[in-house]
Amino acid sequence: MSERIVSPPPGFEAAAALKRADYERLYADSLRDPEAFWGQVGRRLDWSRPYTRVKDTSFNVEDFHIRWYADGELNVSVNCLDRHLAERGDKTAIVWEGDDPATPARRISYRELHAMVCRLANALEALGVVKGDRITLYLPMIPEAAAAMLACARIGAIHSVVFGGFSPDSIANRIADCGSKLVITADEGLRGGKKIPLKANVDEALRKPGTHSVETVLVVRHTGAGVPMQMPRDRWYDAVVDPQPATHAAKPMNAEDPLFILYTSGSTGKPKGVLHTSGGYLTWASYTHECVFDLKEDDVFWCTADVGWVTGHSYVVYGPLANGATTVMFEGIPSYPDPGRFWEACDKHQVTIFYTAPTAIRALMREGDAPVKRSSRRSIRLLGTVGEPINPEAWEWYHKVVGDERCPIVDTWWQTETGGILISPLPGAVPTKPGSATLPFFGVQPALVDAEGRRLEGATDGNLVLLDSWPGQMRTVYGDHGRFIDTYFRTYPGMYFTGDGCRRDADGYYWITGRVDDVINVSGHRMGTAEVESALVGHPAVAEAAVVGAPHDIKGQGIYAYVTLKAGIEPTEQLRKDLVAHVRHDIGPIAAPDWLQWAPGLPKTRSGKIMRRILRKIAEAGPEGVDRAGLGDTSTLADPAVVDSLVRERQVR
Ligand code: ATP
Ligand code: MG
Repeated sequence: MSERIVSPPPGFEAAAALKRADYERLYADSLRDPEAFWGQVGRRLDWSRPYTRVKDTSFNVEDFHIRWYADGELNVSVNCLDRHLAERGDKTAIVWEGDDPATPARRISYRELHAMVCRLANALEALGVVKGDRITLYLPMIPEAAAAMLACARIGAIHSVVFGGFSPDSIANRIADCGSKLVITADEGLRGGKKIPLKANVDEALRKPGTHSVETVLVVRHTGAGVPMQMPRDRWYDAVVDPQPATHAAKPMNAEDPLFILYTSGSTGKPKGVLHTSGGYLTWASYTHECVFDLKEDDVFWCTADVGWVTGHSYVVYGPLANGATTVMFEGIPSYPDPGRFWEACDKHQVTIFYTAPTAIRALMREGDAPVKRSSRRSIRLLGTVGEPINPEAWEWYHKVVGDERCPIVDTWWQTETGGILISPLPGAVPTKPGSATLPFFGVQPALVDAEGRRLEGATDGNLVLLDSWPGQMRTVYGDHGRFIDTYFRTYPGMYFTGDGCRRDADGYYWITGRVDDVINVSGHRMGTAEVESALVGHPAVAEAAVVGAPHDIKGQGIYAYVTLKAGIEPTEQLRKDLVAHVRHDIGPIAAPDWLQWAPGLPKTRSGKIMRRILRKIAEAGPEGVDRAGLGDTSTLADPAVVDSLVRERQVR
């Protein structure tokens, strides 16, 4: 992997709040005295009853508990809204950019957002929603989605946001799992010019077994489509909400009261209902948002994630709003109406910080530089990425073409389970290396262990674990505390197991190599999928690649590669040979793919992550063919048809 070191541009470093020495000092402080450190950081929030205890955690299975600020009381919505009104009432809280660039953008001030949230909180209470009730949100990327999350927080209802791209089955499963009482949806959503029948999907979901807990469906008028309303269950959002008073006395919640449930993206199996609580989560979301993005008062912050993912929770809604920042919500997709959309919207709204996923970067890179170069992008000063390892090739493109080599890149490693960023450069403090998430955030203690759980020191690779708790950590799997402990704390007793493989280099930098389940063992050499994929993506003809292990008579495991070519490039036998030779040259003969299949598309979760589990099943199948039932839960796939074509075109081993 690339070891190029990219230091922050001198101007950026000079203006940054945290510099190298600050990082080192604060990191050391955070480990030496977590109680004092997080006691101090927690005071960035407004507590109606200040905490006297800070950290009370044990990863020990016999005495397992995770509590932060446990005797403190606060209201998350008050922290995101009310406390800003005096100073920032007229500041824009949300800039909304619609799917169609011709639709007028919306700019919602903190005062207006506060009124929206208060009205909805009053309406929910009038509908009988009480603290602890679960509410499912199935909405497009519109300001009402953020308002709904904050209204739940205001009254202590637990929201479960379900991404608007999910099917009726997936909605039904998630409703049944948490027993939601109320659903908030919209008539329709819009993505890339296509209408998404949100209300119709909810109707279908509510006909499925296990969803009888739902009493009320609130429907936001978004596209204005006529949708059948089933009385008395279905109510128009505006009819219920508009008559309500624009003020609401928020109730204090305990720091450990649940804030939300969010189902993981399911790249590795059945989605888990990850539960986050109030005080620790908001402290983490807001503090990481300020430090990792070097937030300044006049920043316009755009995280492109949907609120259906944790990234949208922590860095579209909770982090930015807790910090009184201006956050951009984008309804559409990067390729509509053309691949210049992101950059045009950056110019239009004078975005200063832009945060997206490697899958989007690779897709845009595939379209060449011209759509980027059409825009100015002068307002952007910092770029970020999250979701998957970023191939050095894509990192370099993001840096050179999008950022004009002016903007540092923060490659942020974290999980739904972690609530916020855990490993990332601080942009004015830590020199970056393309492809590495670099160093741990304050209080985070990563370690690498071998299969038996023995700590590995120095430059090495192994399984990534975390040795101690941090305030933003998930507290349980909703309704299944046993699964929580089994999944994360039993593999390596006393440690949180991330499920990710990782390499640490001589400078102590962390390089995520992919899921541990995806590590390939070729003739006794352990190899991360990310490494081989990066080599393939480094070839000029390749847009995207996914690599898995498959049984090999001699090597034990061989390397099976799925390759998507750039637009306009024809797959040929010669190109296949060239690609194998390219990997052999780049990494070494041990990494040369044994099988290489052309893949017009790869199976991805709706959040854009490659599902290697499915690719592995296809690659592992013997001459009898692929056992379709054995492919497991595919309900979170963005495009199930991709699987059929991959099965058809499978290389016979
Ligand atoms: P499930 O847990 O249901 O299988 P998931 O793990 O894809 O789904 P998320 O919590 O959204 O759900 O993803 C977290 C994972 O994404 C991490 O464990 C890691 O594998 C990957 N990831 C996220 N950010 C980065 C990054 N910057 N670099 C490398 N990998 C990353
Ligand atoms: Mg995961």
